[in-house]
Amino acid sequence: MKKVFKIIGFLMSVVLLSYMAAGCAQLPLRPVDTQTAGETTGVQPVDPSLEQTEPPVTTAPPETTPVTQPPETTAPAPAQTVEVTGGGNIDLSPGGEPAPGAAATYAPSALMYHLILEQPYTELTNLFVRPSEFEDHLQKLCAADCMFLFADEYAMTEKRSIILTFDDGYEDNYTQMFPILKKYGAKATVFMITSKINAPGYLTEDMIREMAASGLVRFESHTHTHPSLTSLSAEDLAWQFAESGRILSSLTGRAPRAICYPGGTVNDFVIREAAKCYSFGYTTHNSPDTSSCDPLALSRVRVSRGMSGGAVLSRLGWG
Ligand SMILES: [Zn+2]
Repeated sequence: MKKVFKIIGFLMSVVLLSYMAAGCAQLPLRPVDTQTAGETTGVQPVDPSLEQTEPPVTTAPPETTPVTQPPETTAPAPAQTVEVTGGGNIDLSPGGEPAPGAAATYAPSALMYHLILEQPYTELTNLFVRPSEFEDHLQKLCAADCMFLFADEYAMTEKRSIILTFDDGYEDNYTQMFPILKKYGAKATVFMITSKINAPGYLTEDMIREMAASGLVRFESHTHTHPSLTSLSAEDLAWQFAESGRILSSLTGRAPRAICYPGGTVNDFVIREAAKCYSFGYTTHNSPDTSSCDPLALSRVRVSRGMSGGAVLSRLGWG
């Protein structure tokens, strides 16, 4: 009898170890979804259902979300310590001046853009920031002497810092945004829907390679097909993350370390699953103050058509 228990115990250990060893990188591929980049046709470039609304964001308090290390990747070793500590005697609000004698430490603010285009081509005109407006934003931000960070560089900084983010990966990010970005030497992060690569109205593989090679743009995950994540199983979430990572890694040589939740739809479960693959998560919660955010549920400031550079600074609390 004892022997039987021993055998059962041994078998259970083997199963448990195999399960633990199968991390995020070895996910079952779904043969059903064989859609490759570029096959998407006849789709409206702007996804109106998900980007215009701002669903409530459930943000887990930092201590309840185990932020695990991302899977082994070829990404450069990042600043891994993101201690989002509460105020103390340091004013952590973006734009706030540090208390006398305190270290000058700021929590970055993130700006959320979609398209930089003169003429809107859908009724969601707010998403179409004019090129002249975007240039004004960069002028004012540079004049404010802030640092530009990529989405995966989120960390406390000694001076004001800003994270420019572009959702979905529209074609104008290359034709309109990229030239202005180069003019000011600013950095931006594109959260790419990888199933849309090469689709009409979206970035092509060549554009992505060129932008990534410039060192001014990083591509991070916006999942593979832009689903509402709160309705997915753990397995489906993992597949969305893995497929997106596989495609971005092959194009840019760099694995994504940040995710932007499609439509801002997120809950504690999604955050826990995302933490297995990413170090940072961005929501559509509209706030410049990230100092009390979970690193996997960072807020952003929504930038709309018609906003001047002065209006952006004012929204950041820097005006
Ligand atoms: Zn999106």
